[in-house]
Amino acid sequence: MNAISGSCNCGQITVKLDKKPDSTCLCHCTDCQRFSGAPMSGNFIVQKDEVHIEGPVKRWAGKGASGNAVERYFCPNCV
Ligand SMILES: [Zn+2]
Ligand SMILES: [Zn+2]
Repeated sequence: MNAISGSCNCGQITVKLDKKPDSTCLCHCTDCQRFSGAPMSGNFIVQKDEVHIEGPVKRWAGKGASGNAVERYFCPNCV
C-alpha cells in the first residue's frame, strides 16, 4: 500500500511513494525559490526506487548554488 500519493495540478503526472519518507526538509535556496515560486520548497528525502512517477515529465538538470548536480522534474502542461 502506498504511504503517500499525489499529482500535479492538471493530473497528468502522478507520484506514489512506497512508504513514508525517511526525512523531510524545507529549502530556501535560490534554485528552490525559482522552481517553486515561493520563499521555500517542501521536500521529501526518499530512495529513488521507492518513488514511482507516471506521466510525461520534463527534466531540468543543472548545478545548485553548492556546485552539486541538481535534477528537477515537472509537468510540462501545468508547471
Ligand atoms: Zn500537470
Ligand atoms: Zn533548494
